[in-house]
Amino acid sequence: MRKKALTDDEKYERKIQERAEKQLAKCGPLGTPLGSFSPEELTWLATVAPRGILLTGARVVNCERHTDKFQNVAIQFGKFTYHPQRDAVRIDCTGKVIAPGFIDMHVHLRDPGQTWKETLETGTAAAAHGGFTTILAMPNTDPPMDTPERLTAFLQRAQGAPVHVLQSACITKGRAGRELADLPALAAAGAPAFTDDGSTTQDANLMREAMKIAASLKKPIIDHCELTALSKPGVIHDGEVAKELGLPGQPYEAEVFIVLRDILLAQETGCHVHLQHLSSARSMLALFQAVHHFLPVTGELTPHHMLLTDEACRTWGTNAKMAPPLRTERDRKTLLAFLGYPMLPVIATDHAPHTAEEKAKGWADAPFGIVGIEAAVPLVLTELYHKRHYSLPRIIGTFTSGPASVLNLRNLMDTGSPADLTLLDLNQETVIHTDRFLSKGRNCPYDGTPCKGTPIATFFGGQYRPITP
Ligand SMILES: [Zn+2]
Repeated sequence: MRKKALTDDEKYERKIQERAEKQLAKCGPLGTPLGSFSPEELTWLATVAPRGILLTGARVVNCERHTDKFQNVAIQFGKFTYHPQRDAVRIDCTGKVIAPGFIDMHVHLRDPGQTWKETLETGTAAAAHGGFTTILAMPNTDPPMDTPERLTAFLQRAQGAPVHVLQSACITKGRAGRELADLPALAAAGAPAFTDDGSTTQDANLMREAMKIAASLKKPIIDHCELTALSKPGVIHDGEVAKELGLPGQPYEAEVFIVLRDILLAQETGCHVHLQHLSSARSMLALFQAVHHFLPVTGELTPHHMLLTDEACRTWGTNAKMAPPLRTERDRKTLLAFLGYPMLPVIATDHAPHTAEEKAKGWADAPFGIVGIEAAVPLVLTELYHKRHYSLPRIIGTFTSGPASVLNLRNLMDTGSPADLTLLDLNQETVIHTDRFLSKGRNCPYDGTPCKGTPIATFFGGQYRPITP
């Protein structure tokens, strides 16, 4: 009887299976379960071990390759490999999820210039504690990152950090919105993107020029969408809560105006525009239309715009004051409905540390922003995976392939790439305690929130980093 020919998928499956068997045959039969290492093993695993590591038994979700399956992950000399060495150490990851290292593309490190709020050291430690292996730092430092010299000096300082630090550069000199910075020189110095985050230039012609240059450099413009003529002096969303609390409100139009401007300019210039921390259903629908017409525009959602509404301002006071403001339940639900689709492929934390004294200045004077890099992953797993039953690849993609595609990062888990991984336990229950944060910031409306699902460890360049919740 003639044997039925195998389909390509079946051949691929068989190849993976054969490779897994070969990998296991090379290693010892015993695997230490993840989380029960001896102190010696921990010390060894925290280095770039020349002896290979083979992670077995985990569900591996790699959205870049559209795979979600149980497979082995082999690491050698800090990089992914197909062929672990004969004496590779086998680690049993049964029941856990492995993903490429998580990326947070919206982080304020406050360094240099405002190191009482956060430093390079505390901010990156907080990122690693939150399960991330790569962050994109915003350039609204003091002085701002608007020259190649500043960028280079900062990137050199960041080399020993526990996560990869990418530094975005300013669009305009001094972030003043009046004159363009030297974008080609900033790109050559290592800036993967340009943004004046914290604000945006109000000058549409200047933004058009910036987009033309960014498009020629093949770098995205990342924009904070706020028309100040409409947003100031508002401190929260212009709605019922603002009226009841007697506070000046920021209308939808303050955001939507710039969203529409940027979409039009993206259409004209061909520049990839990434719209930060979208807060309103109207912005989302404009973005939907743009992507529907194949324009190079993407957006991001923060955990706070995903989880909270302006009602949070009643209980959390200025710890719920952020730009753009928390809006209504309708906005929240609309944003969530689009999350994970091509128009909204990114969750980013907009981690924005401030001191308790600064936040205690009252609604008018307290600064905008909250911290969240150490709470984001547990909150998202709880809310989206357990409560709303979003698929795991849809969620993990917003932390991995989504931001990677915006920032042109590639080959997240391919052989030869640095072995950056985030390991998740979907069922571990934790409670968010702001006093356990490694960030200096405590300005956060999640203290005491129970969560289900948390990052339990990362591999950073092949080095094992357990996470204590
Ligand atoms: Zn912003």
